[in-house]
Amino acid sequence: MSEVLNISEAEWEVMRVVWANGESTSQQIALVLNGKRGWSQSTIKTLIGRLTSKGYLQARKDARRFVYTTHLEEPESLKLEVEGLLGRICSRKKPNLLAYLIENIPMTAEDRAMLMDVLQNKQVVAEVPCDCYPGQCTCHLHASGTILSNHSYEENTHEN
Ligand SMILES: [Zn+2]
Repeated sequence: MSEVLNISEAEWEVMRVVWANGESTSQQIALVLNGKRGWSQSTIKTLIGRLTSKGYLQARKDARRFVYTTHLEEPESLKLEVEGLLGRICSRKKPNLLAYLIENIPMTAEDRAMLMDVLQNKQVVAEVPCDCYPGQCTCHLHASGTILSNHSYEENTHEN
């Protein structure tokens, strides 16, 4: 089963508070996000409401207020988000993206050693196949045998 998260950038801010603090009241969430983003109590209540109806937050009544928890785990959710992002680019371009990330992410000597160890043990292939739908990347311009070859691409361009 390929799971896809449906969490907006704003909703992600709420999830981070709940992941960091565990059980959280809307007041606790509002305190953090009013400070960080200047959001009002009602904006935050709306975001909490959406996350609750999507099943990402669970509400429990505790005395006179609601306490929110989540079954989603932060590392697993991050992985799904990253996989969603990687699904938007050609497999052949992923190593370049990775190099960009490595250049731009601050890291310690230990972090670098860990990454070098991962690279050292990385299994390589002779060629990475393009996994894009024809017309959504430039790989077809350099290869024949795809549905959208140079020839048919030009024909289509002339028709329009
Ligand atoms: Zn491609």
